[in-house]
Amino acid sequence: VQSRLPNVGTTIFTTMSALAQQHGAVNLGQGFPDFGCDPALIAAVDAAMRAGHNQYPPMTGVPALREAVAAKIATLYGHRYDAASEITITAGATQAIFTALLAIVHPGDEVIVLEPCYDSYAPNIELAGGQVVRVPLTPGTFRPDFSAIAAALSPRTRAIIVNTPHNPSATVWTEAEMGRLAELLAGTGVLVVSDEVYEHMVFDGVAHQSVARYPGLAKRSFIVSSFGKTYHVTGWKVGYVAAPAALTAEFRKVHQFNVFTVNTPMQQGLAAYLAEPAPYLQLPAFYQAKRDLFRTGLAGTRLKLLPSEGSYFQCVDYGAVSDLDDAAFCAWLTAEIGVAAIPVSAFYAGGSPQRIIRFCFAKQDETLQRALALLQKL
Ligand code: PMP
Ligand code: GLN
Repeated sequence: VQSRLPNVGTTIFTTMSALAQQHGAVNLGQGFPDFGCDPALIAAVDAAMRAGHNQYPPMTGVPALREAVAAKIATLYGHRYDAASEITITAGATQAIFTALLAIVHPGDEVIVLEPCYDSYAPNIELAGGQVVRVPLTPGTFRPDFSAIAAALSPRTRAIIVNTPHNPSATVWTEAEMGRLAELLAGTGVLVVSDEVYEHMVFDGVAHQSVARYPGLAKRSFIVSSFGKTYHVTGWKVGYVAAPAALTAEFRKVHQFNVFTVNTPMQQGLAAYLAEPAPYLQLPAFYQAKRDLFRTGLAGTRLKLLPSEGSYFQCVDYGAVSDLDDAAFCAWLTAEIGVAAIPVSAFYAGGSPQRIIRFCFAKQDETLQRALALLQKL
C-alpha cells in the first residue's frame, strides 16, 4: 500500500530496548521504571475485578475516576473542571494526544511543535491532515524561544503542542514562560495541546506550571496526563484529558470511535487510589533522590551534565568522549560499555548535530549503581 507515513520506521524506544536486550546492557534508554508499583494499587484493581467491574464503563470513563481527576486538578492548580463534561479517561497520553489532534486539525491546518519533541506528535499531526511547523527550542538551553514562536504563528495555525516537564531535555517551564505563552496566544484562536505527563516529577521545590493555572490558556487547552508515569505502571496505558466542555465534546466524538472507552477495573482501582494524594505528592522527592544519585555518579566523568529540572530524564553532552554522532554513540555505548541511552537527535525531524544523549533514571538504585560503574569508565 502507499504509506501514509513514508518517513516513519520503528520508534527509537523500541529499537534501543531491543539493542539493550541483545547486548545484556543496563537499559537507561526507553522511559519506564524497573521497579513495581504500590501493591495497594494492584489490590484496588484486583478488588474492582472481583466486585464485578468487568464490563464496559461509560464511554467517557468511570465517573469516580473523572471526579478524582477533577478534584486533583482543582486542588493542585486552582481550576475546577466539570467531571461530567470536561474530563475524559484515555488509553494513556498517546491516545489522548492523537485524539485531541484528530478532533481539532482540519486538512492544511498548521500545528506548531517545539523541537526537540516527543516522537508521536508530528506523525499524529500528519495523519490528521495538518502541517507540522517546527520551532526550535533555544539551542543549548532548550528553553522556549518566544520570538521564534511568534514568528511561526500564522492565520492557519490551529494549535501548538507544549510539553512541560519536557521529554527529552528535562526542562520545566517557568511562570514567566507560561505568561509569555498566554500573552502570545491572547486574541488568537490557537488551541493548546499541553502534554503534562511528567506533572508530578518537578524537582528542587519548584511548582509544575500546568496550563490549568492560567485562565487564558486553560480556556483553549487540552491537558493530557498519564497514570503510567505517576504510578509506575506504564504498561497499564491509562491517562486522561481535561478540556473546556466545547473542546471535550469534539474530543469525545473522535474518542468514541477510536477506542470507545478504556478498561474498567483499572479505572476503578485508579479512582480509589487517586483519592489519596500522598503517592503523587511524594513523587518529586522520590525521583529527585534518583536524579541526584545519578548526577553525583556522573560528576567525575567526561559526560557533561545538562540540567534536569523535571521528568525522569537526564541528558548529557558526550562531546569530550567521542566524535560519533549520537545514534552511533548510543549503539556503541550499549554494545561496548553495556548501558543503553536514547540519542536526542531522534526527537528532531531532520536529526541534530548535537552530541547529546538521554538517560532514564526511573530505575532501582542498584540498577543506577550498576550503570554508573560502567559509565565511570568513560
Ligand atoms: N508524552 C510524553 C512526553 C511522553 O514521554 C510519553 C511517554 N513516554 C507519552 C506522552 C505517552 O504516554 P503514555 O504511555 O501514557 O501513552
Ligand atoms: N515515553 C517513553 C520515552 O520517552 C517511551 C514510550 C514508548 O516507548 N513509546 O522513553
